[in-house]
Amino acid sequence: MAKDKLLFTPGPLTTSETVKSAMLHDYGSRDIVFIETVKKVRSQLLELAGVSKEEGYESVIMQGSGTFGIEAVISSVIPANGHLLIIINGAYGERISKMATIHKIPQTRMVFEENEIPSLSAIEKELKSNAAITHVAVIHCETTTGIINPIEKIGDLVKKYGKVFIVDAMSSFGAVPVNVKEAKIDFIISSSNKCIEGVPGFSFTIANRDALCQAKGNARTLALDLYAQWEGLESNGQFRFTPPTHAILAFNQAINELMKEGGIPGRAKRYSRNHQQLVEGMRALGFKEYLPIEKQGYIITSFHYPAHPNFNFKDFYSKLNDKGQVIYPGKLSKVDCFRIGNIGQIYPKDIEVLLKCIAEVLEEMGIDKF
Ligand SMILES: *Cc1c(COP(=O)(O)O)cnc(C)c1O
Repeated sequence: MAKDKLLFTPGPLTTSETVKSAMLHDYGSRDIVFIETVKKVRSQLLELAGVSKEEGYESVIMQGSGTFGIEAVISSVIPANGHLLIIINGAYGERISKMATIHKIPQTRMVFEENEIPSLSAIEKELKSNAAITHVAVIHCETTTGIINPIEKIGDLVKKYGKVFIVDAMSSFGAVPVNVKEAKIDFIISSSNKCIEGVPGFSFTIANRDALCQAKGNARTLALDLYAQWEGLESNGQFRFTPPTHAILAFNQAINELMKEGGIPGRAKRYSRNHQQLVEGMRALGFKEYLPIEKQGYIITSFHYPAHPNFNFKDFYSKLNDKGQVIYPGKLSKVDCFRIGNIGQIYPKDIEVLLKCIAEVLEEMGIDKF
């Protein structure tokens, strides 16, 4: 079989051979081995979140990609008389706002620049003055740029004013340490195919049990009813609808490999090293990062287009693609950037090859100094 291209993207990501081969089994949805695997995975997810059932936390797996998991939370935990404050500094915050609009959930949008850390004093002012707010949502690593938002500090404010706290940690969970309890998070969402390095197929939510129980009967859809999904998983260990059997088997193996790497700290170390090597190499080639270093996380990095008349992203992308290196377009509203992910089965030797390919492509495009 030809070697797969390497994915320097925010997901799906490059996965290990062993994760891929773990999928090569057909299990029925009621198979004992499968049900045991689901149970094990759900309890390992709590462990990764630094919480336990005894402390009042639950994990709920939902079929579909990450967005389905977020929509499950947004559409089923906010009651009819609720009001969502959304802290936005990128496309994924905007996506939550869109969900609220579709589900006719009253919302307050606090929009910050894409290279700006949301202002804690502005958030506090809003929480203090807007008594209608019942829930607050924010993105942990805004994958639009790679910026890391201060969820612990935001969590302190959310709880100071007695609101429910929802965090989209899609691109950070498993690689950026978060203590869900200390950060006062009620619902944190991620998916199978990001930093845990499984294959796409489902999302998961770690929820505060009391907050989850409050969601009973609030759902605006049948399939994405978070409470009903949890109730189903708890009662007989099964999913309400066709389970992502193969993706769960791969995920179980992916968690084993994460643990072997030293858990979240071990993975954080490898991704940070990837990021550092990437930034140093890109700077040496003349590229500039979009974010100042102090705001930049190690998950994904945005780079400005080179200021050179010969540069054209489409050509740049496809020439790299031909060399087996898959990068990602930008998603910024005002600036031309492209993104390079540091996550997945990517190691320093892979970053070295990527940098070499980028240098070759620049030469092929006739781009020297910029
Ligand atoms: C990847 C991602 C999502 C979910 O995207 P899907 O394509 O539905 O998996 C949501 N939020 C953030 C911050 C992400 O990085």
